[in-house]
Amino acid sequence: MTELVIEGLRASAGGTEILRGIDLTVRSGEVHAVMGPNGAGKSTLSHVLMGRPGYEVTGGSVTLDGRDLLGLPTWERVRAGLFLVMQYPTEVPGVSLVDTLSAAFAASGRDAAGMRARMAEEASRIGFDDRFLERPLNVDLSGGEKKRNETMQLGVLDPAFAILDELDSGLDIDALRACARRVEAATETGTGVLCITHYTRVLAELKADRVHILVRGEVRDSGGPELADRLEEEGYAAWTRPEDEAA
Ligand code: ADP
Ligand code: MG
Ligand code: MG
Repeated sequence: MTELVIEGLRASAGGTEILRGIDLTVRSGEVHAVMGPNGAGKSTLSHVLMGRPGYEVTGGSVTLDGRDLLGLPTWERVRAGLFLVMQYPTEVPGVSLVDTLSAAFAASGRDAAGMRARMAEEASRIGFDDRFLERPLNVDLSGGEKKRNETMQLGVLDPAFAILDELDSGLDIDALRACARRVEAATETGTGVLCITHYTRVLAELKADRVHILVRGEVRDSGGPELADRLEEEGYAAWTRPEDEAA
């Protein structure tokens, strides 16, 4: 059993406090959906968990099986087991996808033999064209292809924890179903998931064990999957306060 524990996490960017005390625990194989209005701090949470520069952690802790992650550079967090599906995957001209994953495998001390075949297998599983494997990372890919690419990498790397920042954005219905199913299959072999999303669509295939509502940098409510359905019906009115507008 692996456990990602976020306690009292506070973080700022550009001198503004964005995360205002987040508590979340995700265990192996669990799916935790994080839902919240635009600007709530969802992407910031993913960036702070991965150690992206430009964010200042001002309080709290993040540990993986008791090991502090916040003091580690991003690559060591990845080596410890974190993986991020980015909301807007970055284009990296001159660096191929095959080389990127080979380097990731080497860095984690795993044997890269057979990796090209694994990539092709994962690509076909979610309808990602394997001509892209030799091409520069994400360059000229459509939004949907970028998300499939991220999902393909998740399948190959098989991380302990995956953070999905709006996997559903840019994907059409069939692609979303295929990608969400792939992530659900990863949970069955132990991957824990923090699924940031606006919509319940993704949760039709990727079954949330817990749903958290993030507003203005705070988890204002947590519950079972029914909370996502209620949110879809009612919107965020029950979880927002007049002072949120001013923020
Ligand atoms: P979400 O993903 O929930 O839509 P974000 O985490 O992207 O929200 O942003 C939360 C708030 O923090 C927004 O008001 C955004 O403008 C602000 N913010 C995010 N990153 C930075 C940054 N690097 N510098 C200043 N403000 C930022
Ligand atoms: Mg499950
Ligand atoms: Mg975002």
